[in-house]
Amino acid sequence: MEERLVSICLCDMNPPAKIKDVPARVCTRCGERLYSADVAEQLDDIRDSFGTPDHIEEMHVYDFKRVRPSDDEVPITTAN
Ligand SMILES: [Zn+2]
Repeated sequence: MEERLVSICLCDMNPPAKIKDVPARVCTRCGERLYSADVAEQLDDIRDSFGTPDHIEEMHVYDFKRVRPSDDEVPITTAN
């Protein structure tokens, strides 16, 4: 596993959205991503706060560092 900044596609959202620069641990073999509990919680908060737009124009891209609720340093924990 190695620590990386990844993009998360929220393709089930309307319109589809993307969050950039999310800290995650990525498996170098299979590409599986693990998020710390704190990051996962913040992603949920971001998802909830997007709201539903009236028009679909293009892919919205959000910078995780900018939209995350807290600026505290996030400790990355491994699941294994
Ligand atoms: Zn793996």
